[in-house]
Amino acid sequence: MKSHAQVVVIGGGVVGASVLYHLTKAGWKDVVLVERAELTSGSTWHAAGGMHTVNGDPNVAKLQQYTINLYKEIEQISGQSCGVHITGGIMLAGTRERLDWLKMTKARGRYLNMDLEIISVDEAARLFPLLDKKHFAGALYDPIEGHVDPYGVTHAYAKSAQIGGAEIVRQNRVLDLKQRPDGSWDVITEKGTVRAEHVVNAGGLWAREVGRMVGIELPILAMEHQYLITGDMPELAGKPEQLHAIDFEGEIYLRQERGGMLMGTYERAGVPWSPETTPWDFGQDLLANDLDRIAPSLAVGFEHFPALESAGIRKVVNGPFTFAPDGNPLVGPIRGLRNFWVACGVMAGFSQGGGVGLALSRWMIDGDPGADVWGMDVARYGDWTTLAYTNAKVRENYSRRFRIRFPNEELPAARPLRTTPIYERLQARHAVFGDYCGLEHALWFAPSAEEAHDEVSFRRSNSHPHIAKECLAVRDAVGLLEISNYGKFDVRGPAAAEWLSHTMANRVPNVGRIALTPMLNERGKLIGDFTVCRAADDRFFLIGTYAAETYYMRWFERHLPASGVSVRPCAMEYTGLAIAGPHARRLLQGLVRENLSTATFPFMSFRRMEIGMVPGYVGRVSFTGEQGFEIWVTTDYQRALYDLLIRAGREQGLSLYGGRALNSMRIEKSFGTWAREYRPIYGPFEAGLGRFVDFKKDRFIGRAAAAEERDGGGALKLVSFKIQATDADAIGDEPIWHDGKPVGWVTSGAYGHRVGASLALGYVPSALAREDSGFEIEIIGERRAAVRLIEPAYDPGGALMRA
Ligand SMILES: Cc1cc2nc3c(=O)[nH]c(=O)nc-3n(C[C@H](O)[C@H](O)[C@H](O)COP(=O)(O)OP(=O)(O)OC[C@H]3O[C@@H](n4cnc5c(N)ncnc54)[C@H](O)[C@@H]3O)c2cc1C
Repeated sequence: MKSHAQVVVIGGGVVGASVLYHLTKAGWKDVVLVERAELTSGSTWHAAGGMHTVNGDPNVAKLQQYTINLYKEIEQISGQSCGVHITGGIMLAGTRERLDWLKMTKARGRYLNMDLEIISVDEAARLFPLLDKKHFAGALYDPIEGHVDPYGVTHAYAKSAQIGGAEIVRQNRVLDLKQRPDGSWDVITEKGTVRAEHVVNAGGLWAREVGRMVGIELPILAMEHQYLITGDMPELAGKPEQLHAIDFEGEIYLRQERGGMLMGTYERAGVPWSPETTPWDFGQDLLANDLDRIAPSLAVGFEHFPALESAGIRKVVNGPFTFAPDGNPLVGPIRGLRNFWVACGVMAGFSQGGGVGLALSRWMIDGDPGADVWGMDVARYGDWTTLAYTNAKVRENYSRRFRIRFPNEELPAARPLRTTPIYERLQARHAVFGDYCGLEHALWFAPSAEEAHDEVSFRRSNSHPHIAKECLAVRDAVGLLEISNYGKFDVRGPAAAEWLSHTMANRVPNVGRIALTPMLNERGKLIGDFTVCRAADDRFFLIGTYAAETYYMRWFERHLPASGVSVRPCAMEYTGLAIAGPHARRLLQGLVRENLSTATFPFMSFRRMEIGMVPGYVGRVSFTGEQGFEIWVTTDYQRALYDLLIRAGREQGLSLYGGRALNSMRIEKSFGTWAREYRPIYGPFEAGLGRFVDFKKDRFIGRAAAAEERDGGGALKLVSFKIQATDADAIGDEPIWHDGKPVGWVTSGAYGHRVGASLALGYVPSALAREDSGFEIEIIGERRAAVRLIEPAYDPGGALMRA
């Protein structure tokens, strides 16, 4: 084994082997993979090897497409067969809701160039004769589905990497990791120490243990997973290979395995495996079968596919594999650890392993994953993902693997975990809460406790009239919204202004002022959007997206100078309340000594004030489009501030509103938001944020690329639409059609109650952005006429929020 290497990859499962291959392919040859036992000896060897392109996150779906297309390449390089069987697959729906979901999945596939098709039950039975038609309402057909040989795939990656120059050391456990002062790593193994510039944790079932070697607790948990293989079935004899099938009602998946069928299930009563520590002596072992646990799914399976019942069981496999709380991989660099990378929590290694390897290798080599990998970035999690939280969420996610998540559905596990001081007060006002980073926040308010729940649906639901009331109350009087779930950062020091000027694209505001600013990477793509409030010459308060706190901090810390500026996340130190509406100023004016008139406290002002007895910061900003104020106080004061505003608000017609009303109102104003309209695949001009890029500054990160985009106009444009919808609105990821062709995608949608119209924001090619007719947006399988709006639907000139 070498004593020095550019990279040591820990773990020879399908993911580690893919990372190794992609590094060599991109030109990093001095790379070593260290494997505790033999290749595949974690969860890889006993996988069912199924693969598919469909994924709820379109960006992850793209990486899945990439993975499946890669198998030919690694077979050719290595001479090792991957045992690829592309059989095609059907997803079977037993209910109208599931069929709606399949239609939406098909629609999403359009702009990903996926050739999905909704088929009738008769057609499904023709393609998959084992099913009993009476249980199904329709199906989705995907020609690019199938299975591979897990051993073959892993060895094909590994051999291809070796041909490209990589070294693989088997039977050698990594015992510890120590970082040297120069940032390089001592990788201490059973066969000696390798000094490496970079370390990749692809430890799969042991990724948590490898993480603990460097002091981090990765939010992953292994679950036991069972599948069985039937005896040979006469129904299959002499026939072409059966398709893959997913039966959502039975929560089972099926495929042919030799002369029989393989049937697996994500049972509701799933069981975690080794919840705290994975034993190092777990080898190519299987777990004890527990058919009783999956009996309910098997019973449905036998009813839906009657021939299976008499086929007998040839073999049962029960093996563990890992999940993150949301079921997506954990990939990328770890905040605060130089040159330490993770590629773990990959629950669908044969659909995702190639994409994970590609993204991580680019990230390591170019400093950027080269694609929108927000959905699998390890930085999407923070401190709230304790061991027990992860355990509860992973179990929930596992049990729901084949269940629908409706757009208005909040999941119950691990709740309530984090609450603000006014939680009980909002509860008493019949708030329906959502969970955001483990924090409870009000989505909407019901008139009574009995009505305070969501009836989950793809269509307008029971909350619709109540959200309407909230929006109209904001329009006509004043509304109060809790905004504690925003990310907040305290930036201070003599070099703070200079650092912000370099890190953010817009100018730094003067003391007492606020500036909105995109944050760009070197490629000029959006990696954040912030409200920068200047409290003093050397002190700033930044407001951004809470879910991206670790993501932002990772970037900030990479770009901080050795001295002169400090950045500290302070999301939970400051809780916030926003008031918005034509009576907002009148309400607040009665509680503060400062003159809040536009002449003395204009739009985008920021000042420390005392609101009654409560010290806080007040910003004059608006995400609703109405006259608005955001008030930030340390958490100990939040309840007093809330009570004060509620009391004083009675005279002004104050009512409460929640996150759903805010979403509707920001879409009426065509205001974008992080992870929806603003993501690292869009540039600021594409996203309509060009006016917040200050080219008068000579230097800031991404300037050259942003100037190029400005001059070239950008490939895409974010535009607003009014849709002729009836009982369902766009929610995001629907295709946008123009002249009968899918040309773009929706990023957000909602009913705009103040304007009385169904609205959406989405990206289309720049060349089409000036067209105002000929558009359609596909909502639950139906193409609805849509008109491009040339200006925001509500108060386009912005007079109300500036008044
Ligand atoms: C029953 C079952 C069925 C499945 N079916 C499918 C399917 O149909 N389709 C699909 O896509 N996925 C399926 N999976 C999931 C699939 O197995 C995983 O996605 C995949 O194996 C993850 O690979 P990995 O490389 O991340 O982890 P692992 O396979 O666990 O690999 C990690 C490797 O790291 C090594 N290692 C760990 N720590 C150290 C250390 N300190 N030093 C050296 N080496 C170390 C381990 O020995 C191991 O070989 C299934 C899993 C199971 C259990």
